[in-house]
Amino acid sequence: MSEAGPEAEVRRNHAGPSRIPEGHSWKVEDFRSGLRAWLDEHDLSPGPEPGFDAQVAQLARVRRALYDGGWMRYGWPETVGGLGGEPLLRAVLGEEVATRGLAEPGIYSMVEVLAPTMISYARPELAARMVPRLLDGSEQWCQGFSEPGSGSDLASLRTRADRRGTDWVINGQKVWTSLAQFAARCVLLTRTGPGHDGITAFFVDMDTPGITVRPLRTMHGVDEFAEVYFDEVVVGAERMLGRPGDGWRVAMDLLPYERSTCFWHRIAHLFTRLDRVLDQTAAGDDADLGAAYLALHTARCRSRATQRRLASGAALGPDTSIDKVLLATAEQQLFDTARDLLPGVVELDETEWRSEFLYSRAATIYGGTAEIQRNIIARRLLDLGKE
Ligand SMILES: Cc1cc2nc3c(=O)[nH]c(=O)nc-3n(C[C@H](O)[C@H](O)[C@H](O)COP(=O)(O)OP(=O)(O)OC[C@H]3O[C@@H](n4cnc5c(N)ncnc54)[C@H](O)[C@@H]3O)c2cc1C
Repeated sequence: MSEAGPEAEVRRNHAGPSRIPEGHSWKVEDFRSGLRAWLDEHDLSPGPEPGFDAQVAQLARVRRALYDGGWMRYGWPETVGGLGGEPLLRAVLGEEVATRGLAEPGIYSMVEVLAPTMISYARPELAARMVPRLLDGSEQWCQGFSEPGSGSDLASLRTRADRRGTDWVINGQKVWTSLAQFAARCVLLTRTGPGHDGITAFFVDMDTPGITVRPLRTMHGVDEFAEVYFDEVVVGAERMLGRPGDGWRVAMDLLPYERSTCFWHRIAHLFTRLDRVLDQTAAGDDADLGAAYLALHTARCRSRATQRRLASGAALGPDTSIDKVLLATAEQQLFDTARDLLPGVVELDETEWRSEFLYSRAATIYGGTAEIQRNIIARRLLDLGKE
């Protein structure tokens, strides 16, 4: 009898172990070696096309291939197209993808940031239908939180959602929405009443009439994010994430992912850059390079502890602000060191070094600024009182 269905398809496409195990039966080291063997056989290297559009297309290609091979499905629940197993498997996958330079690490992170929220808050049938599209690369999604005037003070957001019959009608503006111009869907925070309990989250189709996206260019020369305008945008009640007024809880559950789990592969990427500085400068005994290594290694140790806590079933919370501070500090220290050891390359040449140096400045802004993370650490972890 011939096999049918997605499991069979995965087995057919899989050139690693002869049979694809369920996620929970993988040991992490076996998973890593199986994945490496598969990646050695399946060349997913990016093509020569420059630019952000090419990076987004490459990300979709990589996700598609990894999903078809089964690898992208591990660490995600079966209810949303996953194959189960601990979330640590996702971290190992991200590390291999980043170390081999298969996908730009920032945009690769979006799955880690948005899928857990969908799984926790979307109606089960919506999550089951939508999350596989993110995992398999057929869609990009974006995160509509920040507004002009509501960044650090996110709870002051003003984009309104008003009930009209069984639907909700959205009016307002978001800004700095990464990947909005490529996204099919948006996890959107809106105001439905006063205060923190008056924030409600929706999962909105980006092709809904009334949505206008205007790309914004970063200082490293990339149209990575956008302004997004909502003008009488009608969204069905079934697209609400949680219940009316749950939006703040959605944000508080999502942001810890943005401030932690995706860093494992980002750190792997940064280690490749540290190796490049070493290769290009022969400055193996430079003290600044040693300090940059130490900062990266510290961030990696912290990230490992966070991954382990998540694997043990712990909920991520304000403690992830520590991960964010360590990551941002290490990233900027590394590129500062590169600038110092490669004189003129960052300032004068249009190289990857310049682009990555400039983007590293954003590390203390996106996902919540460095000052806000330190406020959270002081107030919520160290109990030092209000600032
Ligand atoms: C590359 C990049 C990608 C992004 N992607 C997204 C995205 O996809 N979706 C999204 O919603 N947003 C996104 N953002 C926006 C990001 O979340 C905000 O920029 C960030 O939260 C800061 O908000 P703000 O820009 O309004 O700055 P502000 O809140 O105006 O802060 C300005 C300065 O004041 C400081 N400050 C503010 N309040 C305090 C305080 N209480 N104590 C001490 N200092 C304070 C801040 O630390 C900062 O230095 C992105 C940003 C960047 C750079």
